[in-house]
Amino acid sequence: MPNEAFGHSQSHSHPPAGEADVAYRGFATKAIRTGQSPCVATGATIVPVYQTATFTQEGVGVTKGFDYSRSGNPTRLALERQLAVLEGARFGSAFGSGMAAVAGVAALLSQGDHIVATRDLYGGTHRLFSDVLTRYGITTTFADLCDTAAARAAIRPNTKLIWIETPSNPLLRVTDIRAIAALKAPGRVVAVDNTFATPFWQRPLELGADVVMHSTTKYLCGHSDVVGGIVITDDQALHEQIAFHQNAVGAVPGPWDAYLTLRGVKTLAVRMREHERNARAIAAWLETRGDVATVYYPGLASHPHHELAKRQMRGFGGIISLRVRGGGQRALEFARRLRIFNLATSLGGVESLVCSPTAMTHASVPAARKEELGITDDLLRLSVGIEDLDDLVADLSRALDATLFLAEREAAVA
Ligand SMILES: *Cc1c(COP(=O)(O)O)cnc(C)c1O
Repeated sequence: MPNEAFGHSQSHSHPPAGEADVAYRGFATKAIRTGQSPCVATGATIVPVYQTATFTQEGVGVTKGFDYSRSGNPTRLALERQLAVLEGARFGSAFGSGMAAVAGVAALLSQGDHIVATRDLYGGTHRLFSDVLTRYGITTTFADLCDTAAARAAIRPNTKLIWIETPSNPLLRVTDIRAIAALKAPGRVVAVDNTFATPFWQRPLELGADVVMHSTTKYLCGHSDVVGGIVITDDQALHEQIAFHQNAVGAVPGPWDAYLTLRGVKTLAVRMREHERNARAIAAWLETRGDVATVYYPGLASHPHHELAKRQMRGFGGIISLRVRGGGQRALEFARRLRIFNLATSLGGVESLVCSPTAMTHASVPAARKEELGITDDLLRLSVGIEDLDDLVADLSRALDATLFLAEREAAVA
């Protein structure tokens, strides 16, 4: 029976913010409260898992706003409202994975359209744009969007989508969202993959983007136990097209996954503060190690886009990439010897992870492009979790020390 999500005539149309929602000013309050009023029928404080495929109608077409769970489900709607509000928008469409969400944005395009996308972006997005959309007559130019002139030069009359990933994966390069959003034109949408930053640190719609996409698998869910995605916009016409695609293709999350994500997002603010506190300290510590060649973290003064990151983001997040001395062999040996950091793809969970982008997350990117981008086998990416900082530093320190001989061997050869 009814949660507040009930009582709306169209399962796709989201209600305007309720009176109570207006009182939700701060980020944490919104995350914990929006879309989550007590059930009017039972008083249940927590939005239930509406584990149902269908909804019984009193008469033909007489519904309480839901008729079939592909088209709309109350648990999913609560998640969509919660995340939309966190990005400062009215509309969200949840998907069964981050990639399904990227495809949901791409569904705004038609045959003959063109995309300009960040060069060093998530491997799966690269694959979708290069190997799937091309079969439907949609082409992509990958450009260095950190260079606004290069972005402008890549635009063609048929460019309908500019796809920004910032900070980028895995090199954490920062794109000036406001500068790229200025390249908009009628019918040309600017979308931002905000997975790394989360709305806690960065709100692209406030900077002029039209659409925000997340892999909710990462920080939003935050516990590495769900694969999911979402597309958020404040533009009703865009939302209607994306929601139409969501229902037509049916790439929706189940109620249980929506529930776990909704639950995870409630603690986003506290988790992000802890992720960042640990990451800042670890990045600074790694920079003091002579056997680490480069540390990539937008919060470091040495990062080439540090000033832009400070302007555009409220904080720098929990992802660090590093290049170890000693090449690929040492990188893999170091990763293997870590005891707390799990050697695993993914990021954004409470537990720390390490991965080799070239072999793992970016395996689907052609070798020549990876080389060109600097995604080489000495590069590792850390997703810094919220365990105790001392334990994390001790783990990294032990594994670096244990593999120091490989760096020394390389130095001797050179
Ligand atoms: C993980 C990720 C995706 C894809 O999301 P899935 O949930 O794995 O489908 C897209 N973009 C970024 C930046 C990611 O990290």
